[in-house]
Amino acid sequence: MKIKIYILLLILFVILSLIYLNSISVDQVDPVININDNVMHSKTQNNALNGKVETKCSECNGTGMVKCTACEGYGEITESVTCEKCGGTGKIYKDGNITNCTECKDGKITKKVICSVCNGNGWVKCPTCNGEGVIYQ
Ligand SMILES: [Zn+2]
Ligand SMILES: [Zn+2]
Ligand SMILES: [Zn+2]
Repeated sequence: MKIKIYILLLILFVILSLIYLNSISVDQVDPVININDNVMHSKTQNNALNGKVETKCSECNGTGMVKCTACEGYGEITESVTCEKCGGTGKIYKDGNITNCTECKDGKITKKVICSVCNGNGWVKCPTCNGEGVIYQ
């Protein structure tokens, strides 16, 4: 699910940047055809923009996003806490019998918390290109 949302955002970003490029370069051309044209070009060559050359950011491969290093892209972090029911022993003593604690595994409870670095997205803005996907040189 998270990857799908990311791809949707990426497509939106590409379309918006193509519309922007279209508006400053070519007028009165069928926008659909022109967008396809621009996609072809952006994959094969760098675009000159305002005298600066756009180079695809190699750090994020032009996506503007890099995988969150804190959660490895999962968006959540597994935390291990001591089980309160058995005091971290993993055993329950009851009526002279010892049973395994049903609340935990070996006295530890693992719970997942949302990664605070990426807010659960699993991806963060590329620091090299500041999320642009391209570097202006
Ligand atoms: Zn994260
Ligand atoms: Zn326990
Ligand atoms: Zn980048």
